[in-house]
Amino acid sequence: MPTLASTARIDLHTHSTHSDGTQRPADLVREAQAAGLDALALTDHDAVSGWEEADRAGQELGVVVVPGVEISCSLRGRSVHLLGYLLDPLDPALVAELDRTRDSRHGRLRRMVERLAGAGYPVTFEEVLGLAGDVRSLGRPHIADVLVANGRYPDRDAAFRDVLHSRSRFHVAHYAPDPGHAVGLVRAAGGAAVLAHPFAEHRGHTVPDSLVEELSASGLAGIEVDHRDHAPQDRARARDLARRHGLLMTGASDYHGAGKPNRLGENLTPSSVLEALVGQTDGQLLGASP
Ligand code: AMP
Ligand code: ZN
Ligand code: FE
Ligand code: FE
Repeated sequence: MPTLASTARIDLHTHSTHSDGTQRPADLVREAQAAGLDALALTDHDAVSGWEEADRAGQELGVVVVPGVEISCSLRGRSVHLLGYLLDPLDPALVAELDRTRDSRHGRLRRMVERLAGAGYPVTFEEVLGLAGDVRSLGRPHIADVLVANGRYPDRDAAFRDVLHSRSRFHVAHYAPDPGHAVGLVRAAGGAAVLAHPFAEHRGHTVPDSLVEELSASGLAGIEVDHRDHAPQDRARARDLARRHGLLMTGASDYHGAGKPNRLGENLTPSSVLEALVGQTDGQLLGASP
């Protein structure tokens, strides 16, 4: 297996316009190259449709592309995000589950828009679809974008803090698999699963230690330690859990283009960790050869 240099700069969590990022996959890869990255993972929410474009751009620009997906999961009504890497994008069970989640996201967003419009907020579902373009996986940021375009809020964050957060009276949940089931799907599709930002408190994403233990027993490969939404004590807790359960430790930006302040490469994953991840899968890196 070709190896990445030990000094390689690797960012394992980014979003494109296939979900709620603001850059097309090719532009994301171009930005990654400009930011001095050697490898980046494209991990759109519940969508793998951006891989092809990212692969082509990576080959052209000499950037290694790690094919990935950020699977929305739900644990007793709480949101948990699971990163799946190097899985078979045509695996029928995985495809069916992602389709189901994306369908549910669509109906759920329409209902949220109806609630907001009913209370006088300047947004229609047609505007949301129009502005989102050829997005595959609709999310709350696409409502935020219309509210921003119509002058109601200065940016996505302001819209989230006021009306789009998960405890808002306008919030509607969407279907999402149980995290244990999702780990099983990723593994059965030949991929490796990494728990995303497990202790990002202010997002309502904090998971109990017992979940990490359970998922480890089901074949979880790693845990995202270095992430902007983890305070130093969260990183320490994540490292401790990783050591106890023999999990790989990753770092990443969770870049969303102009949609969030996160910058490409602000947190990185060592090449030895990416190699260990690849080694647990049947998949192959895309874009440039390492
Ligand atoms: P959804 O996928 O529809 O549940 O929306 C959640 C997504 O919105 C998260 O995965 C983030 O990508 C994004 N998000 C959450 N909070 C914010 C925020 N304060 N500003 C911008 N984007 C956010
Ligand atoms: Zn997102
Ligand atoms: Fe996430
Ligand atoms: Fe993300």
